Amino acid sequence: MEKFDVIIIGAGVVGCLTARTLSQFKLNILLIDKEADIGNGASCANSAIVHAGYDPLPGTLKAELNVLGNQMWDELSGELSFDYNRSGDYVVAVGPQELRTLEKLLEQGRRNGVPGMHIISADEMHAREPEINPEVSGALWAPTGGTCDPFMVTIAAAENAVQNGVKVMLNTKFLNFIIENDQILGIQTSRGDFACRWVVNAAGLYSDEVMHLADVRPEFQITPRRGEYAVLDRADIQVNNVLFPVPSDKGKGILVTATTHGNTILGPNSVPATGKEDVGLTSEGLTEIWDGARKLFPGLKPTSTIAMFAGLRATGNASSPNRSIYYDHDFIIEVPDRPRGLVNLGGIESPGLTSSPAIAQRVVELMVNEGEKLLAKRDWNPIRPPRIHFRKLPLAEQKKLIKADPRYGRVVCRCEMVTEGEIIAEIHAPIPAVTYDAIKRRTWLGTGRCLGSFDMPRVVDILARELGIPPEQVSKRGIGSEFLVRPTKTVEVQHD
Ligand SMILES: Cc1cc2nc3c(=O)[nH]c(=O)nc-3n(C[C@H](O)[C@H](O)[C@H](O)COP(=O)(O)OP(=O)(O)OC[C@H]3O[C@@H](n4cnc5c(N)ncnc54)[C@H](O)[C@@H]3O)c2cc1C
Repeated sequence: MEKFDVIIIGAGVVGCLTARTLSQFKLNILLIDKEADIGNGASCANSAIVHAGYDPLPGTLKAELNVLGNQMWDELSGELSFDYNRSGDYVVAVGPQELRTLEKLLEQGRRNGVPGMHIISADEMHAREPEINPEVSGALWAPTGGTCDPFMVTIAAAENAVQNGVKVMLNTKFLNFIIENDQILGIQTSRGDFACRWVVNAAGLYSDEVMHLADVRPEFQITPRRGEYAVLDRADIQVNNVLFPVPSDKGKGILVTATTHGNTILGPNSVPATGKEDVGLTSEGLTEIWDGARKLFPGLKPTSTIAMFAGLRATGNASSPNRSIYYDHDFIIEVPDRPRGLVNLGGIESPGLTSSPAIAQRVVELMVNEGEKLLAKRDWNPIRPPRIHFRKLPLAEQKKLIKADPRYGRVVCRCEMVTEGEIIAEIHAPIPAVTYDAIKRRTWLGTGRCLGSFDMPRVVDILARELGIPPEQVSKRGIGSEFLVRPTKTVEVQHD
């Protein structure tokens, strides 16, 4: 049995940042995920907001780690080279009644330690976002809020962990613990057994099932709630800011927000999901998000939609000390009394993305509290070098690059101007991108108006060639999602 000091179950943003944080120390670490790529769970389908921290109820882990996590994003994005914009965010009141909720949120934010918040007038809000509803009566402004590229945070954290010696195994499903005398000795997976001293349960939606196998918190249940979104065409509409409505007992409400990729997104609603894989879209859900978004921007048109998606919240039933209007449940971040060797995370719903760097830090603190002697590596390198993004380069640099490597001269995705050179770099990266979606998330190819209909066949071709596999084996997101059924005819493709 291969032996590790720490095995992390789940390569979402929490598992990947935990792996990266632990990679500072002299530990042998394995990060596993059941999917064909990292970040395929909630970490790839959310609002991408780095929350300021005024929503969670004071005194909860959510409040503490949201505010702590928020403060870590500037350094994190600098070290890991992903897009992050501390643009600030707004909670927008429509009509006089909603202004009172802003006062409550302001007070709650101050108690949570959120800096710089204040309420701005309706006129000021209109000046900052001219197309906003004329009935807006004021807004809460939180300058520490922002947006990030959630795909790249997760990928960059995992890559940096790999650079620092962490082993990543994908398509590897955790099946059970190996426990003797109340001590974890290892885990069983779909790809064999592994010995370890510590297991970190970062399995997101499945964290309840993982902890139950260790006989921890049998009463804890995740009841996923689906959130649906619409993505709007950049050419049609561009909202400048992150705009929330005033919250209700259903949650933060339907927001309208700018993204780091330049699109505007609307959503999410919050409806019970039928299961842990239920990411289907419903016409009722889409009507709900359009109605919600039009409350803030009456001029928005559904014809501007270029894509839709849904994410699943890992909503748990671990109680908060109190109940607020919409924050009933808190994060679980703990080392249970038994079995020894488990760091147990559960119910990591929003603001889990924002809090993830602080959650990773908390995992380390918990291990140290349990007597783990962590020795810092002298050669730990926190920097994950930036990738080439051809479309962002000045013309002169583009020309130089093409001269040095003609593959950067072949544009594969025309909408987003992604080149063959960038795709090949991702296929041979520290965590190889081996599916269409993996390449899409890393390069942003296939996200424009044509939604990949132009680039997809060419990406299949490139993946097959670079990986040395038949095109029929190339898939969208792993086994079972292959694009092609069987060969029909062979065509010689010549590249100049
Ligand atoms: C609709 C929506 C909107 C949100 N908006 C925001 C926001 O704007 N800001 C914010 O801060 N937070 C937001 N969140 C919350 C945030 O997305 C999550 O808290 C965060 O992504 C959780 O990360 P994670 O790593 O815990 O879980 P995940 O990303 O779900 O990762 C868990 C991983 O575990 C793997 N796994 C599960 N079971 C097994 C197994 N048996 N073996 C191996 N691997 C396994 C999964 O494949 C998955 O990759 C939102 C969430 C949703 C759903």
